[in-house]
Order: sequence, then structure tokens, then C-alpha cells
Amino acid sequence: MVAGKASKYFDMKENMSLSKRQSYYNQSLAKMVRRGYQKSPTVKKIFDERNLQPSEIKSVKDLEKLPVISREQLVKLEIENPPYAGLCAKDMETDRIFTSPGPVYEPHLTEKDPIWGRGYYAAGFRKGDIVLNAFSYHMVAAGLTFHSGLRRVGATVIPSGASTTENQIQLIRDLGATGFTGTPSFLMAIIKKAEEMGYNFRENFKIRRASFVAEPLQPSLREKFEKEYGIDTYQMYGATEVGDIAYECSQKNGWHICEEVIVEIVDPTTGKQLGPGELGEVVVTRLNPIFFLFRFGTGDLSKLIKGRCSCGRTSLRLAGISGRVGEATKVRGMFIAPSQMKLVSSRFGELRLQAVVDREGFKDILTVRIEEGKEGPDRTQFEREFENIFKEICTVKIDRLEFIEKGTLTEKDGLIVDQRTWT
Ligand SMILES: [Zn+2]
Repeated sequence: MVAGKASKYFDMKENMSLSKRQSYYNQSLAKMVRRGYQKSPTVKKIFDERNLQPSEIKSVKDLEKLPVISREQLVKLEIENPPYAGLCAKDMETDRIFTSPGPVYEPHLTEKDPIWGRGYYAAGFRKGDIVLNAFSYHMVAAGLTFHSGLRRVGATVIPSGASTTENQIQLIRDLGATGFTGTPSFLMAIIKKAEEMGYNFRENFKIRRASFVAEPLQPSLREKFEKEYGIDTYQMYGATEVGDIAYECSQKNGWHICEEVIVEIVDPTTGKQLGPGELGEVVVTRLNPIFFLFRFGTGDLSKLIKGRCSCGRTSLRLAGISGRVGEATKVRGMFIAPSQMKLVSSRFGELRLQAVVDREGFKDILTVRIEEGKEGPDRTQFEREFENIFKEICTVKIDRLEFIEKGTLTEKDGLIVDQRTWT
């Protein structure tokens, strides 16, 4: 950790003990519930309809008593009760108002909010960095909130927003930019354009660090940025309705959940919380004294990582996003998603596979069909290895492995086929 103002950043609750962390979340949540019940007509309605008293929400576990609010439901609430879906305290000072599709209007707390800087600090941005902020500054939260975050860690910001690749290249060159924040595909488009213009990106420019959000960073693209272009890459995760949620640290092994949010991983069909290692929907409650959105269902699938991170932060980590809720299929109580299937496939040289879920009696049966050409003595070893890796990635045990002829599965065939009938 560097000395000076920014080093305090890391200490801002990021390394508090686990027991302290638990009571911090529980107390902050109880406070927000009390306040929300008092200030927000929508929150009051949700509680009253369930005959629930604010004093009954004392811990993160108690959140299960409240409904998960999806994006669609939030838009509906917004239409019924504009402009803030009845979730905002009217008497509070609001710094600015953003919109997200719907439209949903979101009151923004303050530029001083430490949450915006956490991901940038963990990514190594510091005073002396000159960072291109390629997120739009117009009405949406991204541009201005990430700007605040970069300023919090001492970096100088170039508010380049959504300008053209040519314009971004000119700014990188003329101002000696050292960092980038935006989407991975936009940075790659800038690099490709620079190459077309005759530049050697690595030698002619100084960009050595990038923080991405709003788009998944494919491992192959990350490798390209890091190995080919010498750019150290980091990811952040957020949603427009709730802001930043989590970020990568130098270990690049999962995303630390920000201290300003409570994240639950829940079974999307019941809203009940799942344990570490179990795949479910990311449900977020942003601890917030003016906007009382409890249990926002992001529709993203992820799981919590077991164990502590060696960086020293004690927050729980999310294991990346494994797809969207509608794409996942539940097998014996555990969800498997197409992205997990793709990951398994990539571990075996892009082997074509398909998971078929069926039901025999009262039991789910998971068959994995594999297009595998080779027969022979290695077969048993391959099966064992495949089953282990599948279990590791999908957390579900395969019941049957079926080898099928090469070319049987086409692009059109789904990675997961659910053959169960429930009538
Ligand atoms: Zn860490």
C-alpha cells in the first residue's frame, strides 16, 4: 500500500474483522429499514402488506422476508409513482438525478461517496495517473460516478466520454494518458484504430492500466491486453439502478463486494438465500439514506467464493457473472448456466457438449452428451477427469456421460436441454 491519503482508502472498512463486518451490515440495514419505512410510501406498503414491522429486519438473513424487486417491477413502480417509484425521501438533498432505461429516475447521493473509488484504488490507480473516462457523462450514472471515483484516488480524469476512437487516440497521445476506464471492446477498438493509423500502441502510448465495467471481459481478450499491449486490466461490476457492486483486487480472483452494498445470492424462484459456492441470482441492497430500494434483483447469475482473499480485504467475493437468470436450469436444487458449460468445454479444447436434464421418479437425472472422437484405453481417465472438472465448475454431479458421434451437435442445439415435464 502506498503512503498518503489514498492508503486510508484500503482501511475504509475493507479489512474490518468478519464479526465487525457482520454487525456493520446488520446495523446499517436495520437503520435503512427504519428510515425507509418512515420516509418511503412504497416501502411502507411492502411492509404493511406483509404485516411486517421494521423491527423484524435485524439482519441480512431477515431480508428474505422482503420481496426481490426485478427491473421490470421497478419500472412498474416508477410508472405508478413517478419520479422515484415512491422509494425516495422527499426532504433529502440530492446531488443529481440520473436515468436508466424505463425510464427509471435515480437520485444520486453525493460525489463524496467512497464507493466510487474502491474499484479504482484496488486496480492501482493513484495520484499522477491521467485516466481516460470513456463512459457517457450524459444523464446516465456511469460517466460522472466513475469520474468521482478516479478523483477520490487522486487520478486526473480526461472526460472523453463517448467521443470517437480517433478523438480518444488524439487525447491519449497529446495528454500522455496512463489509464483507461470504459468497456473492454471500446479499448480494443481504440487500439485497432491506432494500429490502422500507423501507431504501435505499446511503444507510442503510455496506457498501462485499465478498469472495465458494463461488459464481460473475456479471458482471451484480457490476455491480449496484458501480454500483447502491456495493459494491466481490472474489472468492476455494477448495475445502473444500484451503482457499483463489486470489483477485482490485484489477486484477480473474484470481485470484492463494496462495503456500501449488501449482496445476497438467491434462488430466483423462491428468493431464499443460497450458500457460498451455489449459483443463484445476484440481489443487491444499496445501503442508502435517501433511496430505499431493498433487494433489487439484477437478473445476473453468480456465486459467492468461499474463503478469504490474500489481499487482506475481508469482504465476500463474487465469482464473476455466469449468465442471466432465464438461461439457467436447476438440477437437483443447483443451477447450471450455459456459460458454465462453455467453460467446461474450453477446458477440453472446445469440446462440443450438451447437458440434458430429465426426471426419473422423483429424481433429476443429468446426462452430459459429448462429441468425442477418440476411443481407447484413455477413455476411463478422460471420463474421470471430465466428471471432476464438470463438478468443480457446475457444482452438480453428472449421472451419465454419453459419447456421441462428431458432428451430431450443431450451433442451434442448446447447451442445456430440459426434458422434464411437471404435469
Ligand atoms: Zn482481494
